[in-house]
Amino acid sequence: MDYDIETRCIHGRGGNQEKHPFGAVSVPIFQTATFSHPGIGHSTGYDYTRESNPTRAELEEIMSSLEGAVDTVACSTGMAAIELCLELFGAKDHILCSEDLYGGSVRMFDTIGAQRGIEFSYVNTSKVKLVENHIQENTKALYIETPSNPTMQVTDLAQMRRLADEFHLLLIVDNTFLSPYFQNPLEFGADLVVHSGTKFLEGHNDTLAGFLSTSNAALAERIRYLFKTIGCCLAPFDSFLLIRGIKTLSVRMEKQQSNAAKIAGWLKQQEKVTQVYYVGIPEHPGYETNRRQARGAGSMISFRTDSEETARLILERVKLITYAESLGGAESLITYPMLQTHGDVPAEVRERLGITSDFLRFSAGIENVDDLIADLAQALA
Ligand SMILES: *Cc1c(COP(=O)(O)O)cnc(C)c1O
Repeated sequence: MDYDIETRCIHGRGGNQEKHPFGAVSVPIFQTATFSHPGIGHSTGYDYTRESNPTRAELEEIMSSLEGAVDTVACSTGMAAIELCLELFGAKDHILCSEDLYGGSVRMFDTIGAQRGIEFSYVNTSKVKLVENHIQENTKALYIETPSNPTMQVTDLAQMRRLADEFHLLLIVDNTFLSPYFQNPLEFGADLVVHSGTKFLEGHNDTLAGFLSTSNAALAERIRYLFKTIGCCLAPFDSFLLIRGIKTLSVRMEKQQSNAAKIAGWLKQQEKVTQVYYVGIPEHPGYETNRRQARGAGSMISFRTDSEETARLILERVKLITYAESLGGAESLITYPMLQTHGDVPAEVRERLGITSDFLRFSAGIENVDDLIADLAQALA
């Protein structure tokens, strides 16, 4: 029987605890680089931690259960997981991407990817026809973020699958913004799902991690091979922290979402706020699509202020809310995408997307929502 996702956050598909020595309820941290062999040609199932480790294996199993994957590799960072994706492609391959990807992904694609001869182009993937028109003879994959970062464009995953089938493309989805608690792209036909585990999954703004999950057995085998060869694995202790973080994923996601919904509503009423980008607002152009493919709207809000001065004052004046990069943790954070997360995105692209000097991104944490609103109110005053 399949457990509900709330249960899977804690137990995965079940049975993990029975494997722990001495009946330990919490997963032991197998802080070892290597494993002894019981005899020549025999293995305990674990040989060397770069390849596999019991603490990390338990985390990977939990992630596979949350995403409905056949396999997941736990990487040292989200970028390491994205780099692993890149290894699947070679010179002259073309990858068509959502236009406002995480800035670090754009940096990786346009430098390391381009050096290897991989071609990238970026379109507004919320427009299906536009995506179709940009598919080339050498296109090998669609690389999607939905909702996107930071302008919250929603891409229809079922439509992307239809195009992927028609043109024989891999469908890769960065699912960091909603986490597996709210969205499972593999269910809609994605071949690969990427996560920055640093964000909602770990949840406490204290550990970096990344995941790459797949529903395709042949791809899983290829990725396992690349994973052990490159050495981008998550350490045993950090794997333990991720398992611990994921235990509370469901309660954090619900609380963060309810805080975000109230804050988005409040921001909309502020005179100095000219536009609010939150997928949970019915006027949002992606509201219906997101409802079809996700179980929630998450807790990421972007908003535009009436001037650069207002935006800068907010960043300088917030007291409870922290002015910092990153997102998804227990602490509410506010960022200046133009200078921080999207600093490496070419200026003309930022301009076109509206990632300008009056534009801020807010990640709602789990603090009391009235305290958060009061902090924003004094910063906006
Ligand atoms: C943070 C982030 C990444 C990169 O992950 P790291 O863990 O920082 O390496 C990739 N994609 C998205 C959407 C992110 O927010």
